[in-house]
Amino acid sequence: MNIGILALQGAFAAHRRVLVGLGASVTLVRTPVDLSSIDGLVIPGGESTTMSMLLDSSGLRQPLSDRIKSGLPVFGTCAGLIVLANEIVDGRSDQLPLDAIDVKARRNGYGRQIDSFETSLEIIDGLNEYHMNGVFIRAPRVESTTANVEILAQVDGDPVLIRERNVLAATFHPELGDSPCVHEMFLKMVAMSCDGTAQFEQVRS
Ligand code: GLN
Repeated sequence: MNIGILALQGAFAAHRRVLVGLGASVTLVRTPVDLSSIDGLVIPGGESTTMSMLLDSSGLRQPLSDRIKSGLPVFGTCAGLIVLANEIVDGRSDQLPLDAIDVKARRNGYGRQIDSFETSLEIIDGLNEYHMNGVFIRAPRVESTTANVEILAQVDGDPVLIRERNVLAATFHPELGDSPCVHEMFLKMVAMSCDGTAQFEQVRS
């Protein structure tokens, strides 16, 4: 199982540490060719406006969007969630999201850098329950989702960890927390997609 980490910009090194610690092999993704060997992709935190620009200049936008639509498991954190959203509030006018998950995300929805915070999270995924600290750094706020989207964790009523079919997304930074549980959840999604027990191939309406 080979996990790609989008490494155009942002916090990709910490994701690599966690994934390697869990025994995954990792490819840093910077060009369309890098997509060919991966079974899943992490889109890290960073600056979503810059990432959006670099998706275009690297030529990755269309091939990545096609892979996600055909079922590639993808895990976006913080700026990565914004990149995957179907609607961005307070984005830059030329910032185009990938429209991979039915979520309306407000950039810097909790305020500026100084309003960054940490809190304990309870994550419920079916019968499994996990606990970890959530690190929120200029985090987006989820303003709305549709019924297609599962809410796996919330803070004060705001969804902070969500999943729609092959797309998992967190408004916080799981790679900076005290447990690798969210990365483990993602690796399970990738394993299920690799062995065919998950059917993610439906195209979103
Ligand atoms: N505020 C950043 C953005 O809009 C995201 C911050 C982060 O990823 N830590 O892209």
